[in-house]
Amino acid sequence: MVVGGGPGGVLLTYLLARGGASVTLLESRHDFARRFRGDTLAPGVLEYLDTLGLARPLLDEVPHTRSDAFRWHTAERTWTLVDYRGASRRFPFYALIPQASFLPWLAERARAHGAQIHMGARFSALRHDPDDPAGRVCGVAYSVDAVRHELDAALVVGADGRNSKVRAASGLAATELGASLDILWHAFPRRADDPSYSGLDLFGTPTGSVALLDQGRDWQLGWTIRAGSLPEVRAQGIGALRAAAVGVLPWLEGRLDDLADVADLTLLPVRITTVERWTRPGLVLLGDAAHVVSPVGGNGINLALADAADLANRLIGPLRRTPPDPAQLDDAAAGLEAARRPAVEREQRGQVRTERLAAQRIASGDAGPPEALRALTRVPGFARLAGRRARVEVPAPVPVIAAGAP
Ligand SMILES: Cc1cc2nc3c(=O)[nH]c(=O)nc-3n(C[C@H](O)[C@H](O)[C@H](O)COP(=O)(O)OP(=O)(O)OC[C@H]3O[C@@H](n4cnc5c(N)ncnc54)[C@H](O)[C@@H]3O)c2cc1C
Repeated sequence: MVVGGGPGGVLLTYLLARGGASVTLLESRHDFARRFRGDTLAPGVLEYLDTLGLARPLLDEVPHTRSDAFRWHTAERTWTLVDYRGASRRFPFYALIPQASFLPWLAERARAHGAQIHMGARFSALRHDPDDPAGRVCGVAYSVDAVRHELDAALVVGADGRNSKVRAASGLAATELGASLDILWHAFPRRADDPSYSGLDLFGTPTGSVALLDQGRDWQLGWTIRAGSLPEVRAQGIGALRAAAVGVLPWLEGRLDDLADVADLTLLPVRITTVERWTRPGLVLLGDAAHVVSPVGGNGINLALADAADLANRLIGPLRRTPPDPAQLDDAAAGLEAARRPAVEREQRGQVRTERLAAQRIASGDAGPPEALRALTRVPGFARLAGRRARVEVPAPVPVIAAGAP
C-alpha cells in the first residue's frame, strides 16, 4: 500500500495496478488541487511515459507549456545556461504541467486498472507484526473524517512528501544539507501582448533574482531570497519586491498592484534533505519523503517519478504472488535505495554548490549569473551538454508493466 498521492505515489499506484498487483493509495487531501509545486516534467520522464503509451495522450489532453532552455537575463544581456534540445529526440523540452492537472489524470487511469484510491485518508501510525522479532511493518492506521481505520499491508510505501509522517513514524532520521535560498511565489494572468520567453527564465537583480515560469494562462513569478530572510523581506514590505520585479521586467508595471502584502505570496522554504536509510522491514520511502531536493533544476517531481518507476519494476513480480514473500519485498525496497540514492545525491551536491554560488552572488550585488557559470557558458556547446547531463534517467518498465493497456 502507498501513503501519499503526489507524483511519486500516484505513478507507483498506477504502475502496480497496471501490472496486475493489488494496490491501495491513501491521500490525506480530498482532491489533487495544489499550486506552486514542481510542475516540470523532464525529457527523460516524458520518454518513459511514452514507453507506457501515456506521453502523447497526456500532452494532447492536458493543457501545458513547453520550455527548451533555462535562461538567465539581466538588463544588459541573456545567458542560455541549459539547453534541453539535445536531451531527447522525441521530447526535446521540459513540459510544464500543473500537478493539479497531471495527478487526477493519472489517478483516473490507475483506478481504471483496479487501484483503490482513498482520498481524505490521513495516515496516522504504522502497525508492527507482534510475532516478528524485527517488528516488521504489517500495515497502517489512518483516519477519514476523524474515524480511525486500520489496513494490513505486505509493504508500506511512504510517498507522503517532505514532511513525511511515515518517515517520522519509522524513526528514520532526516538531515538538512543546507539550502541557501527560499522562494516567494505569485501567479497572475497572462495577457495576449505579453512578451514571450523560454518558459523557464531567471532575471537577476543586484539583491536577488526573479524567476518567471510560463504556465500558459498564467505567469508564475518567484522572488528568490536568502534562506530564512523572510522577516527582513516582510519588514521591507511588498513595495520592494514589486520594484525588484518591475526593475527587470518593466512590462510588469501596474500588473502587481493587487499584491497588498508579502503575506499574499506563497513561501517555498527550499530544503535539501538526506535520509539515513530509505527502508525498514516492511517499509520503504520514495520521492520527497526519502530526499528533498531544491527547485534548482526543477527535478523534485522527476526524481519522485523515477523512484516510482524503479520501485514498480522491482515490486511487481513479488506482489503478483499470493501471498507475497516478505523477504522478496524487502529486497526490492533495498534495491530501490541502492539504485537511486547515487543519482539523487549527485543532484543534491550540484544544488548545494549552485545555491551557495547564487547566495554569494546576491551578497556581492551582481545581477548576472555566478562567475563560474558565466565562464562555462563561454565554452562552445556548454548549454547543450548541460541539458544532456541534467537528464533524469528512468529505468524502462519491465515487460509485465509495459504490456498493460495505458
Ligand atoms: C509546498 C510545496 C511547494 C513546492 N514548490 C516547488 C516548486 O516551486 N518547485 C519545485 O521544483 N518543487 C516544488 N516542490 C517540490 C515538488 O512538488 C516535489 O519534489 C514533488 O511533488 C515530489 O513528489 P512526491 O510524490 O515525492 O511528494 P509530494 O508531491 O509532496 O506528495 C506527497 C503527498 O502526500 C500527501 N500526504 C502528506 N501527509 C499525508 C498523510 N499523513 N497521509 C496521507 N497522505 C499524506 C500530500 O497531501 C501529498 O499529496 C514543492 C513542494 C511542496 C510541499
